Amino acid sequence: MQALKNYIAGQWVESASALKDVYNPSNGELIGQVPLSPQSEMDAAIDAAQEAFCSWRLTPVSVRVSYLFKFYQLLQEDLPEISRLISIEGGKNKADSDAEIKRMMQNVECACGAPMLLAGEKLMDIASGGMDGEVIRQPLGVFGIIAPFNFPGMVPFWFMPYALAAGDTLVIKPSEQVPLTMQRIFTLIDKLGLPAGVINMVNGDKDTAAPLLENPKVKGVSFVGNTATAKKIAMACAANNKRFQALGSAKNHTIVMPDADLDRVVKALLTSCFGCAGQRCMATSLVVAMPEVYDELVAKFVEAAKGVVAGDALSPDTDMGPVISAAAKERILGLIEKGIADGAELLLDGRNLQLPAPLDKGHFVGATIFGNVTKDMAIYQEEIFGPVVGVMKAANLDEALALIRDCRFGNGASIFTQNGYWARQFQQNASAGMLGINVGIPAPVAYFPFGGEKESIYGDVKAQGRDVFDFMTQRKVVTTRFFAED
Ligand code: NAD
Repeated sequence: MQALKNYIAGQWVESASALKDVYNPSNGELIGQVPLSPQSEMDAAIDAAQEAFCSWRLTPVSVRVSYLFKFYQLLQEDLPEISRLISIEGGKNKADSDAEIKRMMQNVECACGAPMLLAGEKLMDIASGGMDGEVIRQPLGVFGIIAPFNFPGMVPFWFMPYALAAGDTLVIKPSEQVPLTMQRIFTLIDKLGLPAGVINMVNGDKDTAAPLLENPKVKGVSFVGNTATAKKIAMACAANNKRFQALGSAKNHTIVMPDADLDRVVKALLTSCFGCAGQRCMATSLVVAMPEVYDELVAKFVEAAKGVVAGDALSPDTDMGPVISAAAKERILGLIEKGIADGAELLLDGRNLQLPAPLDKGHFVGATIFGNVTKDMAIYQEEIFGPVVGVMKAANLDEALALIRDCRFGNGASIFTQNGYWARQFQQNASAGMLGINVGIPAPVAYFPFGGEKESIYGDVKAQGRDVFDFMTQRKVVTTRFFAED
């Protein structure tokens, strides 16, 4: 049995804490043991990162980026094993796990643009007498990353390569539910030959993470998880004068207009709603159809969703793996019950999915579709984070856009139409951070910012790309004057 370790100051360190078992959600098999590290170990990692910062900040950017080139190569070579680990601990099928690693690598590529993206600005003669002004970007120090369970590889890569390239140092706390992927990635980081302490990992839960929010040596925190936690992180960071970017929960609407090609819509919905068993912050969880297409769409969608094959994440036949845990399954089933009690029409019921041993020990919920969902229902208002979709009617585009506007979350939204005017209205008025037109809710590529609005984000800086360089550097203004020699 693999007892996981922490990685502090360039060394694998055994934690003094008790170990928590980690199970494969497909079949209940014990696959690892993660330490719930005490805060003293997190503080030790922060100290190591602080010490490393003194020289890392002065290391030329070209040298910092050269480690990322090597890292990219190692990730490429190790892709099959990282993908296997994401599948066995997170329950994603191979296509989803492979896609996650591709996006990790894309963020590494993007951070390699640091020599140009971190350049400052200079304006000469801002005042008479040879007065010049310039803006220089400087790294700030130690940053913390607190990651969610649903993308154990990708989410830390929304921040990690940028911190390295910018000259900051890091401590990562993976989700205690899926710690194996990051453990494997740190075996690659260990081969990079980075100076000790530049990048550290401490395993554990919320108590382990607390020093990242409190220790004055930490300059900022990048957090991704649910909105209730994001709010706590934001408040703690604000109180302790730290920078924060805290990405939270989602409830994403897909609007289907009367002119949409319904076969294409259904094809997109299958992956958008049921990929990763709906455990994506960019899953479609609500479909808003115009009355002209509602009946036909529902019939086609339900028929197609009956064909979604649930099974072991590692099986090549699996479209949809399990949800992450017994507790997650119980929460999802509870919300399905609430949907029924609130009067939604249960069109496809995934509650009683029976799979053969050993999958009977897994946490499976079948594809579930509700019709005639209304705004007042719990399944409309709450993030379900499972393979459960609500379909509802809106009289016209304005009504559909009002639904998106009034939703407390605003991560993603999409529309299916060939009408340029409707598409433009949607683009201009849909109050969500990441929009799709004739695609399922789209996760932006690494060169674009990833993040939503309203309660889907606390803070005003998003993940990926330039935003993270802005978050992890300070822009210092220097005004200069030199006198002529007499
Ligand atoms: P979570 O909030 O329960 O946990 C996320 C991380 O925070 C874990 O590492 C956990 O140990 C830590 N944590 C929990 N409470 C803490 C506290 N009080 N102080 C410090 N750390 C704490 O989230 P989860 O269940 O792991 O992830 C699923 C959620 O993440 C969903 O709501 C999903 O929408 C969201 N998510 C959002 C995005 C986005 O881009 N907006 C992306 C991925 C996931």
